Amino acid sequence: MSSGAEFIRKIKEQIHEVDPTDVQVLQQNGNGAVLVDVREQHEFEAGHLPGAVHVPRGHLESRIEGTVSDRSKRVILYCASGQRSALAAHTLQDLLGYQDVASMRGGITLWKDRGYDVEVPRALTPEQRERYSRHLLIPEIGLEGQLKLLDAKVLLLGAGGLGSPAALYLAAAGVGTLGIVDNDVVDLSNLQRQVAHSNDRIGFPKVDSAEISIHEINPDVKVEKHPVRLGAENIMEIIEGYDVIVDGLDNFPTRYLLNDASVRLQIPVVSASILGFEGQLSVFHPYEGPCYRCLYPTPPPAELAPSCGAAGVLGVLPGVMGLLQSVEVIKLVTGSGDTMAGRLLLYDALGTTFTELKVRRDPDCPICSRDPGEISDEEMGVFPDYEAFCAGAG
Ligand SMILES: [Zn+2]
Repeated sequence: MSSGAEFIRKIKEQIHEVDPTDVQVLQQNGNGAVLVDVREQHEFEAGHLPGAVHVPRGHLESRIEGTVSDRSKRVILYCASGQRSALAAHTLQDLLGYQDVASMRGGITLWKDRGYDVEVPRALTPEQRERYSRHLLIPEIGLEGQLKLLDAKVLLLGAGGLGSPAALYLAAAGVGTLGIVDNDVVDLSNLQRQVAHSNDRIGFPKVDSAEISIHEINPDVKVEKHPVRLGAENIMEIIEGYDVIVDGLDNFPTRYLLNDASVRLQIPVVSASILGFEGQLSVFHPYEGPCYRCLYPTPPPAELAPSCGAAGVLGVLPGVMGLLQSVEVIKLVTGSGDTMAGRLLLYDALGTTFTELKVRRDPDCPICSRDPGEISDEEMGVFPDYEAFCAGAG
């Protein structure tokens, strides 16, 4: 049985070690090696090598693939003094099949002694660390993603069926600022699906009722209330500055207006619609995928337009669709995964089927085929006469 020191000495003979100076030169040349800090969370938060990613040694086997999926990529590991990273390098190389692994000799201690830069990341408060602990455990979000969520400004158009679940879950997820546009008041018939409201708040403006629910879940979320009806005269002013828009609108003219304004300001829109037992979902990411007009150059037949009258809907359906929207928002904010941009999802709750259609940008789209600066005020929201359109529905 060898001593601990002897064991580490033997491990170090089986791996490659690099000097901090070599790592620094590599970093300055931007050579593409992945720098992995294998220390504990609190050590990483106290300061790390610029550009390093964090995979604590205790989670190395389960998380390294999420961070470095390509096993042929050069990986340089470091810790405080070069011991833990040597053991981690041995694991990656001998057990997980990584082909080009090295451990930085002397760790961040020697790195600092040489006078090289250390980056101190923004930290979460102890309460935030506890609140978001389940996010911190998934590499696709982690500390970096959680900070992005806390910095994010998301606008909910409507605090109704779709906006309610989105508001609750986005607040719980730690989206720092939630804007809500809604000029309606809570009505008894809303409560079958609009879960951000409650029996004792019937008659309250929906923006106020939603704000109460949001703060009950997460008091840190800043709520920006817009108790107005979205129109051509205020849309640019309201949506500007938000990172993502959640479209829970129930009428087509405003959807066209929203599309044109969001393309002009280059803000992605996560859109959903519901009717009966059926829901649709897509992401309209300006210039990266089709816009709403690329898909629907003309409005659907008037009899299919729910805004023309009270339309029935299964109460749970907007919950499902609003939460699918929330997932897309989180991916857009954190940059993880693939969004629904360029895809349209159709959900049939009665048959429990999900159908996905590919959708493409229209090279002749009247809006997104041109630069944002070329879209004039006069063109925004241009739409066939809606009154006549609804009248046609009988
Ligand atoms: Zn378009």
